[in-house]
Amino acid sequence: MPLPKPLNRPEKDWMPLKPEAREKYEASLDDTLILNIPKPGSKQEEQQLVRRFLNGLEKLFDKHNNWGFLQPFVATMEHCARCQTCNEACHIYEASGRNEIYRPTYRSETLRRIYQDYVKPSGKYHKQWKSGGDIPLTWTAVCRLAELAYRCNLCRRCAQTCPIGADNALVAREIRKLMSQELNIYTSELHERGSMLQLKVGSSTGMNPEIVKDNIEFIDEDMSEKTGMNLKTVWDKKGADI
Ligand code: SF4
Ligand code: SF4
Repeated sequence: MPLPKPLNRPEKDWMPLKPEAREKYEASLDDTLILNIPKPGSKQEEQQLVRRFLNGLEKLFDKHNNWGFLQPFVATMEHCARCQTCNEACHIYEASGRNEIYRPTYRSETLRRIYQDYVKPSGKYHKQWKSGGDIPLTWTAVCRLAELAYRCNLCRRCAQTCPIGADNALVAREIRKLMSQELNIYTSELHERGSMLQLKVGSSTGMNPEIVKDNIEFIDEDMSEKTGMNLKTVWDKKGADI
């Protein structure tokens, strides 16, 4: 896809993965590694990982574990009309030359089918999984889904164009959450410098209230100097309008 100036330089082709990397990590989605998910050492380990994935998937549909996002998530899972209108809004799908696996609906539909088969009480594998029966869902499929969640930058353009308000970006984000919380699968850049900072200091940029306050004071000083007015932004004042 041609880029505007000054980014319209000839692009180098992507280097194919080395055979050792393909041997060691799950790269079957598109021969690209974002997450570096190692292949399980045994069938038993693979089944344990799939079970952890399914446990996490159940939590996404549980009001006690996912009360904040349950309603729009279930609405997206249950009511997508498969009209494919949202695909045209996705820059990643378009820039890929309309590669099927980068459709906004592709990852959502994959998760939807797993949900319908394994999590919904009426699903065809629900009982077998509950009682520890055979699980046709493979670890490779789970890994492909994990990588797919990172072929989306959560911009929500697709959600804005959906006539019924289904949110494929939310689905990608929920998959990332499941993978991170249940299987420790995440990109360290986003996890350590984003989510963990948010939990630690209350902001994904690492700015704590004191730094914000300091910045506001600096802006006040600057604006007072420029306007000749004595400007002071109130901060956390009891009874303030805003
Ligand atoms: S949220 Fe993801 S799938 Fe939707 S348009 Fe943006 S990049 Fe594409
Ligand atoms: S998410 Fe919305 S726009 Fe996309 S296929 Fe489903 S109903 Fe259509």
